[in-house]
Amino acid sequence: MFSGQLPHYLEPRKLVRQGGEISGHTTVAALPRLAEFQSSQDSVVRARLAFEQDEDGHHCIRGEVHTELELRCQRCLEPVRYEVNASVELALVWSEDQARALPEHLDPWLASDEKMVLAELLEEELLLALPLVATHEQCPEPLDNPAAGAGAGANEGSDKPERENPFAVLERLKKGPRE
Ligand SMILES: [Zn+2]
Repeated sequence: MFSGQLPHYLEPRKLVRQGGEISGHTTVAALPRLAEFQSSQDSVVRARLAFEQDEDGHHCIRGEVHTELELRCQRCLEPVRYEVNASVELALVWSEDQARALPEHLDPWLASDEKMVLAELLEEELLLALPLVATHEQCPEPLDNPAAGAGAGANEGSDKPERENPFAVLERLKKGPRE
């Protein structure tokens, strides 16, 4: 269903006329406006878009775009993987006037040319679908304080009278008679 690489350019008017559908995948790295998500550049972006004319003659693009991004949890400030599911419901327009005339449920997509860059649509829809505030459902337990760990390690070598290492005792017993 999502097989194949998504095309770079689309010819939306032609696709609408044909009632075409495109589906496939790309990566976050191919979407310049998602460059800030540095640890998610390898994430796969999957999209399926159908082009059709609705009963009022609008050139509609409907479908979905998915990816997974690493966001910063606003509670614990650790990274949190977020599944971004954008549902697309756009109407192609070629002028501001056309955009204003659209019914509420259709967002305009201003096409300036016969060709459109698909990545621009994908990144816009994904950005719109991001949560305002990202948090873990349940934040991970904070890791042990690394300073405390180092302290415990340092104690190993020191001669603490209250708890002698049993192996050291054994070693002394073994060596004792020969000395
Ligand atoms: Zn968290």
